[in-house]
Amino acid sequence: MAKANALISERKKIALIAHDNKKGDLLEWVKFNRETLLKHELYATGTTGKILSKELGCQITVFESGPLGGDQQIGSRIAEGFIDFLIFFWDPLEPLPHDPDIKALLRVAAVWNIPVACNRTSADFMVSSPLMAKEYTRMLPDYEAYRQRSKEKQNHFET
Ligand code: PGA
Repeated sequence: MAKANALISERKKIALIAHDNKKGDLLEWVKFNRETLLKHELYATGTTGKILSKELGCQITVFESGPLGGDQQIGSRIAEGFIDFLIFFWDPLEPLPHDPDIKALLRVAAVWNIPVACNRTSADFMVSSPLMAKEYTRMLPDYEAYRQRSKEKQNHFET
């Protein structure tokens, strides 16, 4: 069976999130990459979004704060195929109340094969890629067999 694809357009839909200890890092990174970022559509969790929109002076779609469900809102947009790029500076040294949401967001990004950067170095490599200025065909993993498996299970329990 042919695998499905999704298009990441030239103007990418980028979600930006930083935990409190990483907000400084993200802010510096955003300042440095301002010109590139302004070419794209930006989304962010609550506090991150407020800080970044002040810095960039551009429209950013701001979701709830991460611990209040913002990570999950972004995860749902990824599953729907709406957000296609994730810059997520999460804090590896601090347990957080929404750790399950963080894990879920990273998981859903892997499920849908979207580009993810979790630190400045990977974010630098990502935004400096020539693919940033082009349309890109993202391969969608073939989940049909998995969906069929769910239907078989459903039938099993209904009979
Ligand atoms: P914040 O959320 O941008 O509202 O701080 C980020 C997070 O903690 O996931």
